[in-house]
Amino acid sequence: MELTVTKDATCTFCGCVCDDIELHSDGTKITNTKAACVLGKSWFLNHTAERLYPDALIDGKEATVDEAVEAAAEYLYLAHLPLVYGLSNITCEAQRESVALAELIGGVVDSHTSL
Ligand code: SF4
Repeated sequence: MELTVTKDATCTFCGCVCDDIELHSDGTKITNTKAACVLGKSWFLNHTAERLYPDALIDGKEATVDEAVEAAAEYLYLAHLPLVYGLSNITCEAQRESVALAELIGGVVDSHTSL
């Protein structure tokens, strides 16, 4: 396996967006980080190019993305006060869409930082 070193990588885990991270990769998995805090290091080291999970699950069973989107839409439609939660580890564009979704369905938004 060939070791790849990426300098000045950006960590998007917590929102500080540190952009001076050095990553070492074996082509499938990040094997080492430099300059990342403990959260960032854990985030990078636990990401892999391997396919560990199916594209979607419904009640713990494998499903297509279309089936999962339909199920999610039904859950959200039936919810009394939908909560759009999480939003870490996603792009700004995805966060924007999440907020728009919350507005559309009359829900509320929260992030993991409230923990
Ligand atoms: S998790 Fe750590 S390395 Fe990543 S952006 Fe936040 S402070 Fe920076």
